[in-house]
Amino acid sequence: MRPAVATISSHSALQIMKGAKMEGLETILLCLKGREGLYERFGLADKVITISAVEDLMKKEVQRRLIGENAVLVPHGTLISGGGLEEFEREFEPRVFGNRFIFRWEYDRVLKDRLLLEAGVNVPKRIASPGEIKGPVIVKLPGAEGGRGYFIADSPQDYAKKMKAVRGRGLLRDGEEEDVFIQEYIIGVSLYPHYFFSPLTGKVELLGCDRRYETSVDGIGRISAKDQLEIGLTPTFRVIGNSPLVLRESLLMDIFRDGEGFVEASKRLVKPGAIGPYCLEMICDESGKLYTFEFSGRIVAGTNLFVNGSPYSDLIYDEPMSMGRRIAREIRKAAESGEMDRITT
Ligand code: AMP
Repeated sequence: MRPAVATISSHSALQIMKGAKMEGLETILLCLKGREGLYERFGLADKVITISAVEDLMKKEVQRRLIGENAVLVPHGTLISGGGLEEFEREFEPRVFGNRFIFRWEYDRVLKDRLLLEAGVNVPKRIASPGEIKGPVIVKLPGAEGGRGYFIADSPQDYAKKMKAVRGRGLLRDGEEEDVFIQEYIIGVSLYPHYFFSPLTGKVELLGCDRRYETSVDGIGRISAKDQLEIGLTPTFRVIGNSPLVLRESLLMDIFRDGEGFVEASKRLVKPGAIGPYCLEMICDESGKLYTFEFSGRIVAGTNLFVNGSPYSDLIYDEPMSMGRRIAREIRKAAESGEMDRITT
C-alpha cells in the first residue's frame, strides 16, 4: 500500500498537498472545523478528517484512521506552536515525516541555543542578566508569538524602562522575567535559507531562501531618524509576510557550511538527527558574517513562495520542485525501496 501524506489545515498545507499529488501520493487533510470551505476551493485533499483543535491529533480514533490509511504526517509550524510536544513524541503512533524529537529543541530557547552552538554556527551572544547589557540587545519575551512585545535596549536602565512598559501592556506576567531571553542584537539583513536533508542520498539541498517582512522594524527606514526620535519609536518584530531572496553567490559556501553543521550536530544531540526540511534563521552583518539566531526543524512558511520551485531548486531539478513536493518525493522513494524507517520517526 502506497503511503498517503497527511497534514493539518494551516501554515503550508496547500503546498504540502500539492507536492504530494505531483508525486502521485494520496492526501489526507486534518481539517480544523470551519476551514473545510477554504480547502475545498483548492481541491487538493483526497480525504478529510475533521478535527476541532490540533490536540485532536492525539485522539485514538484519529490515530487509528491515519494508521489505517498508511498515512505519514508532515508536521509544520502549527503543530509546534500547539505545545504538548512531549506527549506527541511519546504517544502519537502514526508515522511522522522527519525527526519528531527535534521539535522540542525548536520550541525551547535554551535547547535551541545548545543545538546551534553544537552546529558550530555563529550564534548572537546570550546576555545572562540585564545588568550585563553593554550594547544593543534584543529582548525576547517567553512564548511571544511572532516577536510580539520584543524590544531593543542598549543599557540596564533602558531595559528596566522598556520592561516596565511591557508589563504595563500585560505582555509579561509575574514570575516570567526569569524566562526573558536577552541576546546581542545583530545589525544586518535577515535571511532564511530553506534546506532539505535527505537521509536517502546523504545530501543537504538548498531549495530556496526568503526574508521575513516584519512590522514595524522593516518599515522604520521610511521615517527619518529625526522623526523616529521625536515619536519615540521602538521597533517591533511581528511577521507580516515573506519575500523571496536570492543570495550573493559567494555567501553560498557559508550557507552550506552552516546547514551541514546543523545536520551533524542534530545527529549527535537529537537522534536520529535532522531529516527533511529545516531552516536556519540568519542575519548577515556588514562584514558578510552570518549569525544564526533560531532554527526550525521542519518546513517553514517562507517556502510557500516557491510552490512552483525556486531559483535554487531549478538548479538541481529539471522540474518544479517545491519543498512540499521534495518531501513527497522522499516519502515515495523511501516507500519504493522499503526505507520508510530512515525518513520517519
Ligand atoms: P525570533 O522570535 O527569535 O524568531 O525573532 C523575531 C525577529 O526578531 C526575527 O525575525 C529578527 O528580525 C529579529 N531578531 C531575532 N534575534 C535577533 C538578533 N539576535 N539580532 C537582530 N535581530 C534579531
